[in-house]
Amino acid sequence: MVCHQVVLRGVHRGNLLKKFRFHPPQTTLQRACPQAGLGVVGWGRIDTGRPCGSPAGAMTGGPMNVRSEGVVIVGGGAGGLELAIRLAKAGHKDVLLIDRSATHVWKPRLHELAAGFRRGEVDELDYAGLAEHWGFGFERGELADIDPEARTLTLAEWREDDGRVRVPGRRIGYQAVVLAIGGGTPDMGVEGVLEHALMLDSEADAERLFERFSTGLLAHRAKQSSDPFHIAIVGSGATGVELAGLLATEARASSVAPRECQPRVKVTLLEATDTFMPGMEDEVRQSIRKRLLNVGIDIHTEQQVSRVDRDRLTTDGGDEFQADLTIWAAGRVGPPVADSIDTLATSKKRQWRVRPTLQSVDSDHVFALGDCSVIDDEPAPPTAQAASEQAEHLAKELPRFLAGETPAPFVYEDKGTLLSLGEAGSVGEVKGWFADDVQLRGRLARAAYQGLQRQHQFILLGPLKGTAEALSDVLGRSVGPRLKIH
Ligand SMILES: Cc1cc2nc3c(=O)[nH]c(=O)nc-3n(C[C@H](O)[C@H](O)[C@H](O)COP(=O)(O)OP(=O)(O)OC[C@H]3O[C@@H](n4cnc5c(N)ncnc54)[C@H](O)[C@@H]3O)c2cc1C
Repeated sequence: MVCHQVVLRGVHRGNLLKKFRFHPPQTTLQRACPQAGLGVVGWGRIDTGRPCGSPAGAMTGGPMNVRSEGVVIVGGGAGGLELAIRLAKAGHKDVLLIDRSATHVWKPRLHELAAGFRRGEVDELDYAGLAEHWGFGFERGELADIDPEARTLTLAEWREDDGRVRVPGRRIGYQAVVLAIGGGTPDMGVEGVLEHALMLDSEADAERLFERFSTGLLAHRAKQSSDPFHIAIVGSGATGVELAGLLATEARASSVAPRECQPRVKVTLLEATDTFMPGMEDEVRQSIRKRLLNVGIDIHTEQQVSRVDRDRLTTDGGDEFQADLTIWAAGRVGPPVADSIDTLATSKKRQWRVRPTLQSVDSDHVFALGDCSVIDDEPAPPTAQAASEQAEHLAKELPRFLAGETPAPFVYEDKGTLLSLGEAGSVGEVKGWFADDVQLRGRLARAAYQGLQRQHQFILLGPLKGTAEALSDVLGRSVGPRLKIH
């Protein structure tokens, strides 16, 4: 029965493209209980030879059965998914990827989704399809705990809305586990943030933001007010700045068209420190600032927001800023679950502390990469670029570690920063290509900006399909109306 199910699914998938996007009709049991066998990708497959873990009950530890696996990667984002594919491509069969979601989303484009653009489906790929294609295992689940002594991790039970348990908690044994579950935006304990502001950490956040933007504009139009629709963005990091550029110049609401009929949008960027885009090269920062001012965005530094209300922000200096929509983009911290796993040390920003080898300071068999981790003394920035470099590094070092060797330290190579600001243009700097760093503007910057995603696509889809996706994405941008999320 189990093998029959998988073979049928394989036959239905005519080509690679369909394979990655195909969501076969599932029975309730499959959706509810992928680990029961019916939905476990790779179960009974003979082409990849990937094992499916030793049977439940092979080891027991407490009330839950423990299934043993080889390398377990938790989190299939910019870093984790690339690592799973790199290991599988290199012939390592015993790799299991776990993610709480069924689909992979390329986060650096979330601000485009938040502004209503969905140029093709390239940003959302089905983990199960990728797993079947490359030959690694995938199982949906949410990390709840880790026991480094026993080398097991626990996945949370999955409950119905009415509280009934749909999928029980699971314990999985590992030879090495890689934590790659990303991070989030901190509310910094500021009053009203969770009630009145929106963040941009997930696809659901992006859709919510676009919905609030669209309905907000419609409500504003209904009032026939001559005032602009005020959007306040707190935090002048890359996320806040890119979102500001896009919302001020290109975003089109789903509720009113054409764009000329929409109320005017006024975007205000607030930064707590005395420097706009702290940490960015001076020349690039000035260029971005000029472009944003040119499209009418207000920028205020030294404005520490101390309270968020439904229609305004208040700073600790007592200034007030009107806000029909508030977006909170004030920094990044590790994932909430890191606080409840007391077996692994975390930093002040709630990231798992790792050594330069990317091994936890508490366990040789626990690795962590990307936004959920920080290397003691040598922190890398919370970017897709750094997560991808760490994935590439671990794809080489994990097999060496499993063979009993000491993994080499990771060295971060800063390749530069590029920002896309909607009609305000694209700006950035590329490092390491030439003797001096190169500052880019306009189309060249836009092309380089897309390069990071192209590289990710090539790893996920392979060169042929990656090129096809890149072409269809470029064509999608140049012809026809943009597709909206809703
Ligand atoms: C709007 C925006 C624009 C950005 N632009 C850029 C850019 O231009 N360039 C750049 O380099 N970076 C950019 N970044 C940052 C970049 O997206 C992140 O640094 C990068 O995605 C981090 O990769 P990661 O693998 O650590 O985690 P993520 O990509 O965040 O992936 C984490 C994965 O873990 C899963 N997960 C989370 N919690 C659990 C759990 N408890 N159990 C199981 N699974 C879990 C999630 O579903 C997700 O699939 C941007 C970020 C945002 C939000």
